[in-house]
Amino acid sequence: MNLSIHIESKSISGWGRTNYSTAKIYTPKDIEQIKNLIDQKINPLISRGLGRSYGDPAQCGGGHVIDTRNLNSLHLDKNSGVLLAGAGAKFSEILKYIVPRGFFLPVSPGTKNITVGGAISSDVHGKNHHCDGSFANHVLQISLIDGQGNLKILSPFDITSSEAFWATTGGMGLTGVIVEAKFKLISITSSQIKVHTKKFNELDSLMESMIENDNCHKYSVAWIDSLSKKGRGILTRGDHADSNEINYKYRKIYREPLKYDEEKTPNTPSFLPNGILNKFTVSLFNKVWFAKSRNSLESEFQSFSTFFHPLDGLKNWNRIYGNNGFIQYQFVVPDKSSFLISKILDSLKKIGAPSFLTVLKRFGKANEGHLSFPIEGWTLAVDIPAKVPGLLDTLNCLDELVVNAGGRIYLAKDSRQSSKTFKESYVRYEEWKSQKKILDPSNIFVSDLSRRLEI
Ligand SMILES: Cc1cc2nc3c(=O)[nH]c(=O)nc-3n(C[C@H](O)[C@H](O)[C@H](O)COP(=O)(O)OP(=O)(O)OC[C@H]3O[C@@H](n4cnc5c(N)ncnc54)[C@H](O)[C@@H]3O)c2cc1C
Repeated sequence: MNLSIHIESKSISGWGRTNYSTAKIYTPKDIEQIKNLIDQKINPLISRGLGRSYGDPAQCGGGHVIDTRNLNSLHLDKNSGVLLAGAGAKFSEILKYIVPRGFFLPVSPGTKNITVGGAISSDVHGKNHHCDGSFANHVLQISLIDGQGNLKILSPFDITSSEAFWATTGGMGLTGVIVEAKFKLISITSSQIKVHTKKFNELDSLMESMIENDNCHKYSVAWIDSLSKKGRGILTRGDHADSNEINYKYRKIYREPLKYDEEKTPNTPSFLPNGILNKFTVSLFNKVWFAKSRNSLESEFQSFSTFFHPLDGLKNWNRIYGNNGFIQYQFVVPDKSSFLISKILDSLKKIGAPSFLTVLKRFGKANEGHLSFPIEGWTLAVDIPAKVPGLLDTLNCLDELVVNAGGRIYLAKDSRQSSKTFKESYVRYEEWKSQKKILDPSNIFVSDLSRRLEI
């Protein structure tokens, strides 16, 4: 093996800071070093991007983890708007590179601190799923090192590799190491988003408005006051602003319409006491947040960072949950079971689960990804301190409601669902498993998540 590879033994977790485990972390310099690791039978192993998944998919206790940070090349074909990116390239770096050149990512999750490999393996979604689907819908090609150390090119348009492509998108790193990917960007004429915000005093009217009008805007998301009686919330919708619209509004030529605004990121203090987030502080925060928002605000221009990545403004904000960490519970249910949104919020209210980050979105059609999370319907994400009494029992009951309704729990956010829940809800699991056997016959790609779910 090439000895210049950096190796370090470390205890790591996901963003939720629960389920820590220790593994040997390898930081290869290039693709050859990754192939060498596989040839040298260094396993079990799993790839890791920026560790922004909440639970345990990017760790492998007692085993090996490949840190992909050095695979960070970027090549933009301006004519076709196609980006060829290394799997370890960060969305933040990609945006810095492409926005001033008039392009934007086809799908933007709630943070830009993720990698291309992480985006593909979780098949991430954004506020535009109802219009544009998830990240994999825009990927043209993946280069993957499989379980036998072979470099494979996978494409959704090639009949010989499309099944492997769809097993890898959403496949949580378990089919191989993604080293590079080609995906389509969208064109923009400004880096601003034209935003419309509206307050609702009840969940029902908010959801009705989302059904009626979401398709009028590319992006849509609602924040819900999870502790309020009727589930009040704030609905935010947006579209990329045209540079001419901005000139018109400000009555002057906006000189740098494609400016990339680098926001300052203050750190979260590490001395915050455990339990600072409880139902009283969160209820107060939610009340203030709701009160300070205007009833209705039309056509406000916001920087794309403010609109897509508001949490990135506070570095390590996950520390506010204290040493015990937190669980993000994100599920999706089909339209016919939309009543479960308020039912599940009520169940969490009953145990006093304080969530100030409660987000509701509508999903459009599912893609071909065997383990891809989005299906047409509603998705709710709730952040809860991990040690709330009764939380795990309550979530187990909620899992049953979700599964019986034909829904599922998002693997990129999950740290606790059972193997039974996973296998009952990811109905294409057997198709995925047969691709996993072809790509990784000796089952060398293993994570704490795959062990827990008995995948
Ligand atoms: C504040 C915040 C907001 C978020 N908002 C959203 C959202 O709106 N929508 C959404 O979908 N997600 C969201 N997420 C989740 C996040 O987008 C995903 O978990 C994403 O996968 C994280 O990317 P990462 O590079 O940190 O990957 P990691 O967390 O390090 O890994 C995630 C998975 O990808 C695999 N992986 C990583 N790199 C490779 C590679 N090169 N080859 C093979 N497998 C690889 C890992 O093995 C693991 O299974 C959010 C997370 C945070 C912290």
